[in-house]
Amino acid sequence: MLCCGNCFESQTLKKHIATAGETGNCDFCGRRKIKCIDVSELYELFLPIIGLYREIEYGVDYFEDDDPFDFGDLLPDLVERDWYSIFSDGFDNDKRDDFWRELVGQDHYDKDNPPLSLSSLWVERDVLQNHPYDMWSRLSYYLKTERRFFIADESLIGTLSSLPDILAGARHTIPVGDLLYRARIGSAMRKVVKYREKRVPFKRKEMGAPPPSIASSGRANPSGIPFLYLATDVTTAVSEVRPWKGAYVSVGAFRTTQSIEVIDLSAKYAIDDPFAYEDSDGTFGLAYGIKENSLLHHLATELTTPIDPDRSLIDYVPTQFLTELIRNEGYGGIKYPSAMAEGRNIVLFSESLVSCTSVRLHQIDSIRYNHSREDGRQ
Ligand SMILES: [Zn+2]
Repeated sequence: MLCCGNCFESQTLKKHIATAGETGNCDFCGRRKIKCIDVSELYELFLPIIGLYREIEYGVDYFEDDDPFDFGDLLPDLVERDWYSIFSDGFDNDKRDDFWRELVGQDHYDKDNPPLSLSSLWVERDVLQNHPYDMWSRLSYYLKTERRFFIADESLIGTLSSLPDILAGARHTIPVGDLLYRARIGSAMRKVVKYREKRVPFKRKEMGAPPPSIASSGRANPSGIPFLYLATDVTTAVSEVRPWKGAYVSVGAFRTTQSIEVIDLSAKYAIDDPFAYEDSDGTFGLAYGIKENSLLHHLATELTTPIDPDRSLIDYVPTQFLTELIRNEGYGGIKYPSAMAEGRNIVLFSESLVSCTSVRLHQIDSIRYNHSREDGRQ
């Protein structure tokens, strides 16, 4: 089957197909008389990504009474979960399985290299584990125990000086006119007639960031410096404030008044084109890129993890420090996954980038808790 450059997001794949392809009709997006390539010829380019995963192992990843489906995933699902979309909007998603089957087809293998199994379950290899140069740990330790506002350590200065380039790879523009949401637990009462009141949402002006005098520290901001925490949809905004059953929540809709350049940490490794790391010796190139990006990877993990009241405020200093660096590079905010819902969170460094257009009152009908045993067993 043939695919074309329009099927993919990656500039590297587009260029490769434009150079190596021949004119034909694309089986996946339907474009005709366009440079196409046989899907199986992309196998080498996908290898660095596939090399980040391995098949699930009995006795290592799961045990006797476990359901392996709780511990592993199908390879295409993992790849598409962890990376910025591999396929473009034009790609026909109904043909996704065909694509993967063709990609890992039999012709790449000999008896020493068994074919990759698309029906097996896979897990991620921990490429950041045993990283001898774990910058996040070093930076955290330094900021917490040595210096807070100025970095005097030469090797940390060296690492941080490469941050602008790394950030550029995770750049994302939120268009003007986009709608974002912010929730606050609570509501107000308004007198309808004498002795009768009606429950109403907070006013629009009450939905913005808190004033500096009462701004408590958050994942991204130190106390005293308020940021505006928003979400891409109502459910995520509501879930993030963790309301109780029956609670009233005021949900403000905010429209962006200009396009906003943010750092997007939604994808696991904050690398927008994993194919650009293609390397002759297999996984090294991309794994190297991931290590280079490990500061952003840790930042995303820290931002996503809900604030733990048992952790001391000092634990948030490294996150706040990196946020400040991103702000200093001229970005308007950071987009990151939500631990509470499917949508994304967006923290804006200035609330002047959006304006609140309406506030609606919501009530929490039900809450669902999912849990598992701490030791991973069932
Ligand atoms: Zn196509």
